[in-house]
Amino acid sequence: MRLTVVGSAGSTAGPDSPASCYLLEADDAAGRTWRIVLDLGSGAIGPLQRHCDPTRVDAVLVSHGHPDHCADLAALSVLRRYGPAADEELPPLPLYGPEGLDRRIVQVSGSEDAAAADTFDFTAVGDGDTAAVGPFSLTWARAWHPVPAVAVRVAGPSAITEGATTLVFTGDTDRCDDVLGLARGCDVLLAEAGWAHSRVNPEGIHMNGTQAGTLARDAGVGELIVTHVASWVDPAATLELAAVAYGAPVALATPGETHVL
Ligand SMILES: [Zn+2]
Ligand SMILES: [Zn+2]
Repeated sequence: MRLTVVGSAGSTAGPDSPASCYLLEADDAAGRTWRIVLDLGSGAIGPLQRHCDPTRVDAVLVSHGHPDHCADLAALSVLRRYGPAADEELPPLPLYGPEGLDRRIVQVSGSEDAAAADTFDFTAVGDGDTAAVGPFSLTWARAWHPVPAVAVRVAGPSAITEGATTLVFTGDTDRCDDVLGLARGCDVLLAEAGWAHSRVNPEGIHMNGTQAGTLARDAGVGELIVTHVASWVDPAATLELAAVAYGAPVALATPGETHVL
């Protein structure tokens, strides 16, 4: 499995990164490469095209309906309906996310009809739901955020060993037991740390670096990648807090970088 960071900026796109977007790739036994996009936040559809043809990925998984995680679904809909592949009658693109995400696409598109959403084959997912996309096995858990939100566990073939590997992406969430359970024992935890540690933050929205680190420690994960640091927050401070809590070095999700799992 290969994880490429397309966008990692928290809450809005920043000067150096789109908002939340990651590309997951894995090869099946026949050598076909399968591609899943995790989140498609504001600004991500541009650089995503450096790494793949977004109109032909195998599935899109969206954590929740905030613009920094889903706004560019509307842009992907435009690409599929009016871009170079428009005349090919591409089948609807599998899209997984919390209930109501299909209506969100229509709202963001500003259209009066459902055409923007019809380019997707939407499945609403919640706590405990599972699905398969090629060699990827997907399991979702409820996250703790002001809108319906999910975290996802992705199991698939390792690009390092002959066996399987697992990635858990928290989406946006405060520290909660459902996400802890989902993350337990995974090889790589891609965890949001949306709050700066320098102020008192409200509950039920984001983690800070310390909380992301303790989540990784308590879940016994093999590796921690911190993401969703807002462009106005010092990422070095967040990383240091996460590393102290985790008890080992942590990585910062950086646009353009690929992690091999
Ligand atoms: Zn966010
Ligand atoms: Zn959010």
